[in-house]
Amino acid sequence: MCKTDKKSRLLNSIASCQIGNGMEKRQGDVVKRFVPSRVVFEPAALEYPLGQKLQTHFEDLGIEMQMTPSHNRVTGIPGKTPKEKYVQAKQSLVIGVRRTLKFASCKPSAHYQLPLATSCPGFCEYCYLQTTLGTKPVLRVYVNLDEVLLQAEKYIEERSPDITIFEGAATSDPIPVEYLTGSLEKTIEFFAKTDLGRFRFVTKFADVDSLLNIKHNQHTEVRFSLNTQTVIGKYEKGTAPLKGRIEAARKIAEAGYPLGFLIAPIIIYDNWEKEYLQAISDLAAMLPEGSNPSFELITHRFTKKAKSNIEQVFPESTLPMDESERQFKYGQFGYGKYVYPKEAMGEIKDIFEEHISKVFPDSEIKYLV
Ligand code: SF4
Repeated sequence: MCKTDKKSRLLNSIASCQIGNGMEKRQGDVVKRFVPSRVVFEPAALEYPLGQKLQTHFEDLGIEMQMTPSHNRVTGIPGKTPKEKYVQAKQSLVIGVRRTLKFASCKPSAHYQLPLATSCPGFCEYCYLQTTLGTKPVLRVYVNLDEVLLQAEKYIEERSPDITIFEGAATSDPIPVEYLTGSLEKTIEFFAKTDLGRFRFVTKFADVDSLLNIKHNQHTEVRFSLNTQTVIGKYEKGTAPLKGRIEAARKIAEAGYPLGFLIAPIIIYDNWEKEYLQAISDLAAMLPEGSNPSFELITHRFTKKAKSNIEQVFPESTLPMDESERQFKYGQFGYGKYVYPKEAMGEIKDIFEEHISKVFPDSEIKYLV
């Protein structure tokens, strides 16, 4: 296909501006990778080999490219309504240089966030990045990974002889852009060589093949965020289906990585109990014998701010967010959220704990909130 044809095909997908369109398309079980609608380069990024490689890659694809006049300034993303602006931002990819090398803390699950990328092409209505990235969550990848990893080394030395854990998914889902940057692969190999550094990340995507044959030394824990296919289909547009995530988890387990699952957010709906239990049983049937992954269970909750963001960006959302059906609770970060009432929480706890301990007798449930 010539460049012009490719470009007009992409522009058509932009024009249709549907959530989930132009970012990941499925044909049967084949998942096509994320392809941005436009790419914005920071001039300094072109001084790095990865920046140059990506420039050639997107030039060959005929994708619209711009230079940003200054770091952190991205203009010209189209869209009139909040929804259009949100969709277009998620189809825009900035190739930049990570300047802030002071890593944010990441308590309680890790010591530091490891900044590999920002934002994600998925359209989960309850995305945990909504509050931090606002209504225009432009994707960013960084070409100076070596500098980022050098900084990680300093943090590891500072905490020596204690182990230091880094979380790679605090600001993005790192899998969709991995085929472009190779950052996860390099990071996993970096941590494999450290004595006191550990790495973990979580994903809702399934494109893990490039990670299977690299040396990880069991220093990286890969976690998959799972839900029932009903919830994924309704609220996690643009991510991998449940079957794809389970299949990816099987590959990761066979490659010998420490493995974990987040079941989140657990939502009560017609038939929820049966579908969640079936998903856990399917997982047990697919993983290699003797697997004992860890589980983190998070029930659905929302803040007033998150609800108002979701209503702006996803005006047709059917996400259950009726405050009168919830209990108000102050969280550890000082703001209040609406959680399921005590009785429903008790029911969720009993059902999940009983079933997980039956099908994964040696697994640990780290927490249920
Ligand atoms: S996959 Fe994760 S980071 Fe991406 S939109 Fe969904 S919740 Fe957000």
